[in-house]
Amino acid sequence: MDHFQVKNGVLHAEDVALPAIAEAVGTPVYVYSEATLRRHARVFREALSILPKTHFAFAVKSNPNLAVLRVLKEEGFGADVVSIGEARRALAAGIPGADIVFSGVGKTDEEMAEALESGIGQFNLESEEEGVELARIAHEKGLTATAALRVNPDVDAGTHDKISTGKADNKFGVPYFSAKDIFARLSALPGMNLRGLAVHIGSQITNLDPSRAAFAKMGVLLADLRAAGHTITHLDLGGGLGVPYRVGEQLPGPDDYAAMVAEVTKDWDVTVMFEPGRVITGNSGVLVSKVVRVKRGANNPFVVVDAAMNDLARPAMYDAWHDCVAVRPSGETMTANVVGPICESSDTFARNREMDAVTTGDLVAFRTAGAYGATMANTYNSRPLVPEVLVSGDRYAVVANRIEPATILAAEQVPDWLK
Ligand SMILES: *Cc1c(COP(=O)(O)O)cnc(C)c1O
Repeated sequence: MDHFQVKNGVLHAEDVALPAIAEAVGTPVYVYSEATLRRHARVFREALSILPKTHFAFAVKSNPNLAVLRVLKEEGFGADVVSIGEARRALAAGIPGADIVFSGVGKTDEEMAEALESGIGQFNLESEEEGVELARIAHEKGLTATAALRVNPDVDAGTHDKISTGKADNKFGVPYFSAKDIFARLSALPGMNLRGLAVHIGSQITNLDPSRAAFAKMGVLLADLRAAGHTITHLDLGGGLGVPYRVGEQLPGPDDYAAMVAEVTKDWDVTVMFEPGRVITGNSGVLVSKVVRVKRGANNPFVVVDAAMNDLARPAMYDAWHDCVAVRPSGETMTANVVGPICESSDTFARNREMDAVTTGDLVAFRTAGAYGATMANTYNSRPLVPEVLVSGDRYAVVANRIEPATILAAEQVPDWLK
């Protein structure tokens, strides 16, 4: 359930009509609903409250906006970060270092040093080499790094190839069969408090069986490590739960996920950690765009909108589906292609789609754009960086400004020899 509803013929975010935001801020613009963010955060936490000990770290990469992070901090979430830039954002939003998990396959020495100084609560180690380096840096500083070893369970999440992370040939984690030996070697290092294991098999997971299989393998490893005398207090199960991108799509929800997790983890006696991203932010945002013109095609017409693949990359990158609805639906429908102005054929949001009828000047909204939307935006074709707005009841505020091409141009220079 989300708080984007048509009232009096106009699509609203909570109590704010989207045309009011489009007029004041311009288009394209991302609009987030605070009530929806809070609702998703609570539903997820409450579902998992059937477990005795839990920790929730919001996956910052899905939506790193400072205001979004602040809302989730208020809902009791820590943060899962994959770069020092994301760690700084989480800290800036007021999330304590102790509640931050540092994931990511290429942590540099500089990033690990700064994270240690900032009191980051847990490093999820992606390799033995990284663990050795982290221990050395911590030891030199007279600190101890708290860490978990990320294991690649060799399970296919059954999701899009580009967002699958738990197969043996994916770059993430250490191979399952060598995890026990690596854990033993790393946990013996000075400067290292290796307290747990981590697993994350992919994103937009719509079938719980692969997760169940991966978590069960982690349970076997946990028992093996304990039998070998290791103390394990934390098991991080990552994120990945999918969201419906189409009206009426039925997917496993937080309750189904929680029941599965409770069953698999019942004898673990650890703090179970979660890193949800998309399931919290996905349906909390829309991308509002204006129709520049409708162009006749050889077959169906092209609805050319002022948003493009630089603003919302998911369709171009993952062949993703986003519902595209009229902000003022007339009740009429049309079959059309929805495209952006960028000079790439992949700049296509919808092909031969049965959708609300729209014409030049109308506003449309791409639904379920709150996760992996603005965060992936760029300025390709010298387009502005898309702004973000947060709605709360009948209030709204710009929470990220539009960055104009002139600002980016100002950061470039012609070298002396070309002057
Ligand atoms: C991307 C990622 C997540 C979040 O994934 P969602 O599908 O958005 O829930 C969690 N943990 C790690 C390590 C990730 O890379």
